[in-house]
Amino acid sequence: MLDLLIKNGKVCSSESIKSADVGIKDGKIVMLADQIDVSSKKIEDASGCLVLPGAIDVHTHIDHWGGTANTEDTFFTGSRAAAFGGTTTFIDFAVQRKDEDVATAVKRRIGQIDTETCIDYGVHAHVTDSSPETLKLIPKLIEKGISTFKMFTTYKAAGFKIEDPDMLVLMKEITDHGGLTMVHAENDSFCEELTHRLISQKKADVLHYVESRPAMAEIECISRLLLFARYTRAKLYIVHVTTAESVDLIRQAKREGVDVTAETCTHYLILDDSCYEREDGYKYVMAPPLRKKKDIEALWEGLMDGTLSIVSSDHCDYSTDKKIHAKTDFTKISPGLHGIEWLGPLMYEFAVNRRKIPLTKVIEWLSENPAKVFGIADRKGKVDIGFDADLMIFDPKKHKLLDDQNNHMSSNFCPYKGEKLTGQPVKVYSKGQLIIDSDVFLGGQGKGELLGSRY
Ligand SMILES: [Zn+2]
Repeated sequence: MLDLLIKNGKVCSSESIKSADVGIKDGKIVMLADQIDVSSKKIEDASGCLVLPGAIDVHTHIDHWGGTANTEDTFFTGSRAAAFGGTTTFIDFAVQRKDEDVATAVKRRIGQIDTETCIDYGVHAHVTDSSPETLKLIPKLIEKGISTFKMFTTYKAAGFKIEDPDMLVLMKEITDHGGLTMVHAENDSFCEELTHRLISQKKADVLHYVESRPAMAEIECISRLLLFARYTRAKLYIVHVTTAESVDLIRQAKREGVDVTAETCTHYLILDDSCYEREDGYKYVMAPPLRKKKDIEALWEGLMDGTLSIVSSDHCDYSTDKKIHAKTDFTKISPGLHGIEWLGPLMYEFAVNRRKIPLTKVIEWLSENPAKVFGIADRKGKVDIGFDADLMIFDPKKHKLLDDQNNHMSSNFCPYKGEKLTGQPVKVYSKGQLIIDSDVFLGGQGKGELLGSRY
């Protein structure tokens, strides 16, 4: 006897979209066939709907201290919002504080997430130094299944910046033990110098924000990191790529055999830097900043030809009271934009509906590639036999007009306000449990579990 039988839907993967029934038992997909006629405790009719794997958002900052303020959500509200958008797994960061080692940071963060999250999760270790202790802990963490190490090339004032020699040492250590080096790539000297110049010229208002973190800062840094990866033979992951030139550099490096995986985020694929000229331009202060329309086109091309592999939300939710100071001085706020709930629905609208990109591609970027890159492809990212029943019934005809209120994130505004989306998840399952039924949350706080780790 099955626990759940989803009938008459169109089951989607990166290879195909085909009519099939899905049988679920004990949280796993156990049957997948044209027609299943086995008794089941519950039968769900998905006629007219798609059956999609849950999205895996590999880049989120839930309950995050950004330097001047903490983001609004808890791991409960953040993971619940994710679920409403059809995301069934997220990977967040354990930031090593100045007074602790990286292993302690990981343990602390897991302890925090585990009691709150309603969907499964993973943790990237965010390393802030290259001390002998950190180098000693890297192999130990990898052994325990924490295998991604994030480093920043910028944010010196916040104590995040890793200098070049330290970056090389860390990359080598991570690589030698089979880990993944994840980087935020912006040249800190450029950003610092340009920011100081703008302040002295009394131009630190949001209109000039993009000049403080120009495309050049990202391009230079990605170019340098690709050389570092070539030298150390590292497996490199570049977060939130934003410029056309960065895409070209990554494409070329991949051709030459550098083991690099690159990601972009929903907002860089949709919004451009004209947002900073708006009355509410302060809402769009994030790092890197929004770019030009030509960059947006290059990012989509990069996704289509496999130069970029993953789309994430980089969810970082601040309300307007925390962002408004950027109107006159962008250095007074912590950058970041929320979007954990909109990842799947925005991609369905902007890729499938508007750009006529095959849905199979979007599934690669949101589910299958994230699962592969972050080592959970044995159980997540696909609607297939043996996989966790992390899936959604998605109505491709259901409309939603985005506004400031109609979402479940804790921030009080919507950067895509007024956009009409067609296609919404109507039922979302986490390991076979119905956690979202239209507008109703049925999941449980702390029900999500840590993936790929033995903590
Ligand atoms: Zn981020």
